[in-house]
Amino acid sequence: MHIQSDVCIIGDGAIGKVAALGFAQAGLKVALLSPLSPLSASSNKAAQPPTSVAEAWDVRVYAVNHVAHNLLSSVKVWEALDTGRIAPVDSMMVNGDAAGELAFDAYGARVGTLAWIVEDRNLNQALDAALKFASNVRAVNGRAVDLKISDQAASVQLENGDTLSAELVIGADGGQSWVRSQCNIDFDYRPYGQRAIVSNFACEKPHHGAAHQWFSVAEGVIALLPLPGNQVSLVWSAPDALADTLSQESLTQLAARLSALAATELGTLTPLQPEVVKSFPLSLIRPHAITAARVALIGDAAHVVHPLAGHGMNLGFADVAGLIKAVVEREEHRDCGDARVLARYARSRKEDILLMQFATDGLARLFGTAFEPLRIARNLGLNLVNKLPVLKRRLIGHAMGSKNQ
Ligand SMILES: Cc1cc2nc3c(=O)[nH]c(=O)nc-3n(C[C@H](O)[C@H](O)[C@H](O)COP(=O)(O)OP(=O)(O)OC[C@H]3O[C@@H](n4cnc5c(N)ncnc54)[C@H](O)[C@@H]3O)c2cc1C
Repeated sequence: MHIQSDVCIIGDGAIGKVAALGFAQAGLKVALLSPLSPLSASSNKAAQPPTSVAEAWDVRVYAVNHVAHNLLSSVKVWEALDTGRIAPVDSMMVNGDAAGELAFDAYGARVGTLAWIVEDRNLNQALDAALKFASNVRAVNGRAVDLKISDQAASVQLENGDTLSAELVIGADGGQSWVRSQCNIDFDYRPYGQRAIVSNFACEKPHHGAAHQWFSVAEGVIALLPLPGNQVSLVWSAPDALADTLSQESLTQLAARLSALAATELGTLTPLQPEVVKSFPLSLIRPHAITAARVALIGDAAHVVHPLAGHGMNLGFADVAGLIKAVVEREEHRDCGDARVLARYARSRKEDILLMQFATDGLARLFGTAFEPLRIARNLGLNLVNKLPVLKRRLIGHAMGSKNQ
């Protein structure tokens, strides 16, 4: 079978799905390739947990910023989310390892909320529901095995012999991107020697919409993000050895560690039922380019950053907005995969991506060393920024995705 479209998106994570919706809304024909074979898709469904467990709080959550919120609203996905499961973040407290402290709040930033905590399952269910009604998105299941580029089009060959041709192929296939490797785009890769442990807890005291973060050399970065009600979601980026220990402990022991840390703000923490804990190895992936002939990379295929700022997905949503803009605003004589269009996309994303890579990598390294002068300097730095309202507003503005703050 041969499927012809304007845009072929490889990868059905949240970033690939929202890109499909955005391009379809712009009037383009889209093919969205998912690696699942129909067989594994249905066996996956069969393996879904029973309803009560499915309604439990997902341990994969994202702090969604204003750029992402605007994009999701524009494709009618934000309205389709289960709003009762979203928690606004009204303030954020960052603690260093020697009395360094930095506090942000929505009031100081002159916005209604800094960000929203959204579960992965809530987001993907809303995206899937929207895709069912997107008449010009063709969902294809299969495994891509070859990518060929000509002057007129790109063509993706699937394992079952089918081909997908399009003016533009979009790699939305995550950090280990197959599309990126097919284009021979080189990349820097550096493991952080840390794993992110995620789980959810009930807290004794109300969190008042506050996100808390603690940085230290020995323990890494601990973030407690607000969930609706008196509940919080943990993202603990722990050095590998500590991550091993944490993974062997019970969730009650993990809750006791967190209670000791956050007693003043949140009181005693207890694991949410059913108990779930997951862990993710952390690394930096920095491709040397995010475009090639008739190919654009978006999301983690284009950049993998440390989750300490909670911005990987947000960067991906901004890629989607930038790519749609470059394609939609192209001159009439240019097609979707025209080199000039792709160069505009790459240019428009350069500063944002570089800044986020620099900031997250810099912070991870700064708080990854026990060197005493650096320990003093980083805590002084936090306190200094805390006392400079203009700089603080700029930082918040950037985190929210606005360059005009
Ligand atoms: C612990 C943790 C916490 C995080 N917290 C936040 C946060 O608070 N805020 C935030 O903005 N970001 C956060 N992130 C980052 C965020 O999770 C990622 O940036 C985001 O999920 C990337 O989405 P993606 O769609 O680009 O990639 P993925 O989610 O990796 O999706 C890629 C998709 O491509 C498919 N695929 C792969 N290979 C192929 C192929 N060959 N053919 C077809 N399909 C293929 C895969 O099946 C998958 O569905 C966090 C990350 C971690 C690890």
